[in-house]
Amino acid sequence: MTTLQPPFDDCLFALSTISHLLEYPRPLKHSSLQQKHLKVLNLLALLLITEPNSDVAATTLIRTTRSVTILFSKNRPCTAPESSYIQTLQDIITSTTRETSSIEDTCRHALSLVIDNCSGKVKARLNKLVNRLKSGFTANPPSPDTSTLLWERLQSTGFPSPSDIPLEKSIAHWLTALRNAPTRALAGTRASSTLFIAYAIGHTPGIDSVIDDPVLLRRLQKLGDYFAAVCCLVEGYSELEPRLTITIREIAPPPPEIITLKYDILGTVNAWASHRVHHPLTPESLLSAYPSLTSLFVPPPSTDWIVPPDNPPPRTVTTSVHAECTLLTHLLTLKLPLLELGTSKSVCWACGSFIAALGKSYTGTIHLSGRQGKVHAGWRFPEGTSVAVRDAVEQCLSHEMDIVLARAARARRSDSEPSGYDQKRNVFKTTVGEILSEEFWSAVE
Ligand SMILES: [Zn+2]
Repeated sequence: MTTLQPPFDDCLFALSTISHLLEYPRPLKHSSLQQKHLKVLNLLALLLITEPNSDVAATTLIRTTRSVTILFSKNRPCTAPESSYIQTLQDIITSTTRETSSIEDTCRHALSLVIDNCSGKVKARLNKLVNRLKSGFTANPPSPDTSTLLWERLQSTGFPSPSDIPLEKSIAHWLTALRNAPTRALAGTRASSTLFIAYAIGHTPGIDSVIDDPVLLRRLQKLGDYFAAVCCLVEGYSELEPRLTITIREIAPPPPEIITLKYDILGTVNAWASHRVHHPLTPESLLSAYPSLTSLFVPPPSTDWIVPPDNPPPRTVTTSVHAECTLLTHLLTLKLPLLELGTSKSVCWACGSFIAALGKSYTGTIHLSGRQGKVHAGWRFPEGTSVAVRDAVEQCLSHEMDIVLARAARARRSDSEPSGYDQKRNVFKTTVGEILSEEFWSAVE
């Protein structure tokens, strides 16, 4: 007899805690035009991130004959200061008179505003770059073409002329100064020029042979992305027909909620085992399959640490509707033929499953720039999600829980423990998830 499956929230929490990484059948493919659109949308999403960690935004752009609207959502409703910042950003952009000199001023003005309001994230990106610089770096001589392009970009920033000092030495000098005094690099008006130089160096064609550490180069580019994002916004607006208006508007999600979980991790996996008519797993077999779990179990030396204390503290998790899901749910009501979604971070596993499930019944096309297999605890369905979409996402989750169970059961057998597991019967194995995954992902592309 099967028992009820453990709650959705408990399963998500268990999968996220054991760092169960899911693999996708194939990477997303986009045309170069779609890639360009998605890149711009991703950059716009970056401008909405005000916290150093765990802040996520999704964006899309809707153009009509009269207006351009940038719609965005975050994993939580915007705070009052964030709404005010976004309004000011919009005011600055629309104040440009669309003359070249004014565009530069507008970019500078907008970049300062962004640095002030997104300082936590800007500092976090700079610190990542500095940490990489601390492990050592070199700058190789650029090719003649790269040298010309780099110098064109850098000459306004006070870099010495390549006729005086080789460009690679100037770059190495700048990176060394950044490593030694990162706080100074973001102080006052210097911050804008730091972001501009990071952009100019990081995004010049051929730079990968000058800075041949791909991690270092990527981190430099990510710092420079702030400049790129502001330019996209300001220059993009300046190129629009004058009659078009631009609006940046939030689609607010419901506030996050704290809920209490029913089980601990082993309890969830064993409730799943029971649901699949499988014998219970020991902590050892789960740990053997997922060694990273070790830190979660604190075994007292001589007691049975499987048994929880009499009054265990409540296991709570904060749930939220992720930015992509809020935005997409809103967009579907507009019945547009093409939806392009930019995100400040790659789409998580649950969002990916949700979007894929929606995509199956949607007559238009949905484009996302990137997704990853990470499971986040506390992921929540948007209000009004259809039963069919809920069922489809829950089936994907079932598939992943089955994989965890199978892996832990295998670990148990390989440890030569007595096992009541009947391999031929294979009660918990299902191919539903695999079939769904394959079909789902084809709906998003
Ligand atoms: Zn997500």
